Amino acid sequence: MPLSKIWVFAEPSESGISTTSLELVTAAAGFASTVEVFSYGVGSEVGQLLGDHGASKVVVVTDLNGVLAGTGVASVMAQRVPSEAPDAVFFASTPEGRDAAARLSAKLNLPVLTNVVNLSIDGDQLVSENAIFGGSEIVSARFTSSGPGLYIIRAKSFAAESKGGSAASVEEVSVGDIGSAGKARIVQSHVEARTGPKLDEASVVVSGGRGLGQQESYQLVEELAKLLNGAPGASRAIVDAGWVPYSYQVGQTGKTVKPTVYIACGISGATQHMVGMKGAKNIIAINKDADAPIFTIADLGIVGDVHKVLPKLIEAIKAKG
Ligand SMILES: Cc1cc2nc3c(=O)[nH]c(=O)nc-3n(C[C@H](O)[C@H](O)[C@H](O)COP(=O)(O)OP(=O)(O)OC[C@H]3O[C@@H](n4cnc5c(N)ncnc54)[C@H](O)[C@@H]3O)c2cc1C
Repeated sequence: MPLSKIWVFAEPSESGISTTSLELVTAAAGFASTVEVFSYGVGSEVGQLLGDHGASKVVVVTDLNGVLAGTGVASVMAQRVPSEAPDAVFFASTPEGRDAAARLSAKLNLPVLTNVVNLSIDGDQLVSENAIFGGSEIVSARFTSSGPGLYIIRAKSFAAESKGGSAASVEEVSVGDIGSAGKARIVQSHVEARTGPKLDEASVVVSGGRGLGQQESYQLVEELAKLLNGAPGASRAIVDAGWVPYSYQVGQTGKTVKPTVYIACGISGATQHMVGMKGAKNIIAINKDADAPIFTIADLGIVGDVHKVLPKLIEAIKAKG
């Protein structure tokens, strides 16, 4: 292995550890002989799941007592960097991941590479590909400074792969006194209700945009998504308009999705939207403007009015049973 040790900041989820974090653990296991995970809010049962993806050890930070997870975990990581000297630390490009990376960067006075969409090895060095200008350009970068390289990696840049390894050992560490950094506290959290699959894990995503014309028409998107066992998504235009919650947003400042089928309904195809869905295996676009940019990446383009095409499509699927 070209590198000896990579750390991964892993976030909890309903199924133990988030898929995005498992993607990073799998990627790290391809570059380093030792992969260690730092997490929070999980029990020792995650040891097997993380071991299956290539980690040998999990440090679970406890006693956060309302302290932001990124703050607490970054503090524990910072204490251990001098003695344990990881080559790199991977964070997912999520609110918690970005928070933890920023705090570790400030504590250790180390730079961070953000918006990483791929990593490779050149000799014994990691080389990253980073999306810039809203994802319209990719640049390649590497650290020249000493100390671990900190990488904030976009979801779906790597595939999560369970290889069935032995369980990672689990070490629980109390966060301890983190001084004034611990002053910001979580006073309330809200889990949004959801019936179908998660947007970033669904194999079919049906997204609606401003072309729907009005909030009421979004129910066509929801109905089609439900019929296809998929998840409904949205462009930022209709999130900003308040038609759907932010958690539905696909794109640069929303979720990255990589479903088998992505159906864009009344979405123009701005770069900031496409960066979040262009990895879909099959893209279907419905737009009344034949010159809409979304058609440049669509596998199947339907030039038409969403208010006519969507009801027909729904009817046809229902008729098929
Ligand atoms: C920093 C930054 C970050 C951003 N992040 C994101 C992001 O994460 N996700 C995101 O989506 N956007 C993002 N945006 C916004 C992005 O630039 C676009 O403004 C947005 O994606 C446009 O949404 P839209 O396609 O729904 O609307 P529009 O661009 O207005 O497109 C509407 C489309 O609907 C078509 N249409 C109209 N009527 C019909 C009809 N009856 N039937 C069929 N088609 C019809 C039109 O031809 C048009 O192509 C970001 C912008 C910035 C500056």
